[in-house]
Amino acid sequence: MPCKNCLNKPVIKLTNNNIQLCKQHFIKYFERKVFNTIRNYKLIEKNDKVGVAVSGGKDSLTVLNILIMLKNKIRKFEIEAIAIDEGIKGYRDETLENAEKFCKENKIKLHIFSYKKEFGDTLDNFLKKSKMKACSMCGPFRRYLLNKKSKELGFTKLATGHNLDDEAQTIMMNYFRKNIETSARLGPITGILKDKRFIKRIKPLYFMTQKEVAAYAFLKGLTAEFLECPHSSDSYRGDVMKMLNDFEAKYPGTKHSIITSFIELLPMLKESYKNFMPINECKTCGEPCSQEICQTCKIVEILKKNGNK
Ligand code: SF4
Ligand code: ZN
Repeated sequence: MPCKNCLNKPVIKLTNNNIQLCKQHFIKYFERKVFNTIRNYKLIEKNDKVGVAVSGGKDSLTVLNILIMLKNKIRKFEIEAIAIDEGIKGYRDETLENAEKFCKENKIKLHIFSYKKEFGDTLDNFLKKSKMKACSMCGPFRRYLLNKKSKELGFTKLATGHNLDDEAQTIMMNYFRKNIETSARLGPITGILKDKRFIKRIKPLYFMTQKEVAAYAFLKGLTAEFLECPHSSDSYRGDVMKMLNDFEAKYPGTKHSIITSFIELLPMLKESYKNFMPINECKTCGEPCSQEICQTCKIVEILKKNGNK
């Protein structure tokens, strides 16, 4: 069967509607859908200074590429990039090289912050001396630095490369762990409260599947390699990802259904949880948190006790 729109050879079959598209029509479809998400959910407004969280992988370079295209069209906002170097040898050093190269070629200012400088050591070294799972340590550190540094850099929004698969996993993880109030903060643009201490996060790839993002990044030549973090499968998220992939293979469209159902529920969730969790300031670092001490400072304290710092 040829492409739905022309007679060319298809490069991809879309999972939610069985449509096949050729390279040219797939790229058009992809970009239009992302631009629609940005417009429909008002992800970017006039005079925004958007920080793009780049890892150098396919998702973040796709977001950056599309935002550069949008900026060239409407020129009413600024873009800079921010990267976190966790210190994962053989993975992050390589993806960061990609990010640096891409930003240089596209004249985008890139700010890099490392765990070594900010927390005292690399993730690789912290893990050698701690029993914590990699992502339980790395996730909070990463979120912490992105929020703190984005504010310091004056970003009004932080764009991330989260795609439909990532969000479907997070929604299911929150169900399984009875974390519904956390789900109220999800969606294409995050946050329930208007609070200057939290940088608003935007997810332009919210409605694009992992497979579509990988195909786009490959066809546009954004990255030659598709490296995965060596710790990504060794986590709760990794298990949920495998489960959803199996389900999707057996019942195509499952992930789209999770997202469309969730989008319907989201306004109710936001309303229900708008006054939930009084937000304190961490007594150690001053960053917003729900308890007296934020999770990052707690982990840093444990690592110090273990003699890691
Ligand atoms: Fe960090 Fe886990 Fe993500 Fe790897 S998969 S970068 S360890 S949060
Ligand atoms: Zn803190």
